[in-house]
Amino acid sequence: MDYFNEKISSKITWEGKVLSIQPRARVWRYLVHNRTHYLLGYNFFIEGFSSNGLENFTVAISEKQQLNSEFRVGDIIKGTAWTKKYEKREFADYYRAGALKLLNREKDEIIIFPPPWIIKPPSMNVYEDRGARILSKNQWKSKCFQCIWANMSNVEIQWDFDKDIKKYRFESFCYGPKSCKYYKMGRARSVSHKNMGSVLDDGFLDDICTENRDEDE
Ligand code: SF4
Repeated sequence: MDYFNEKISSKITWEGKVLSIQPRARVWRYLVHNRTHYLLGYNFFIEGFSSNGLENFTVAISEKQQLNSEFRVGDIIKGTAWTKKYEKREFADYYRAGALKLLNREKDEIIIFPPPWIIKPPSMNVYEDRGARILSKNQWKSKCFQCIWANMSNVEIQWDFDKDIKKYRFESFCYGPKSCKYYKMGRARSVSHKNMGSVLDDGFLDDICTENRDEDE
């Protein structure tokens, strides 16, 4: 529990250009026995301004909101949202977005031959069915940043089962084709547990999480 790190959430307004749309996810880890990905909606990466002073920020948008408006990269939009209560648990700067409004859209959709896939993002079911692999954070920040398959997850490590103590961090993943030329796993990730030291998630769980699809899917 981290009650002492709880901040007061406040409502803000924001406006700006959509640079990237990625799935938003929470990942539960328990040693290397379990890595479960829960899809929550989308993270919109925005360049613009918010009423509490950020110029580059991430806003969590629900699947329903995206389904209603079909926002895309390049759109200028505005809305409201709330600041986060727990810095370490939520990657997005703002969540509980509302009053979303499209202000401007380029007539022609940006078409870039993939990778990266800068297209309409799929539903949460599609991401869930595909499963994710560990993606190098450097690739996530650079070549993969605008790809609909790139993801920065809110990760909970179950550190103590008896007292339900968790540790939190953010990790990058890829839901895209295994054959993508930009894919790099990067370093294996250590997962700790009380009195047991750490074990390494070195790609073995990726094979399990993505076992339903072939190299090019
Ligand atoms: S590695 Fe994954 S996230 Fe990066 S461009 Fe390829 S499919 Fe997209």
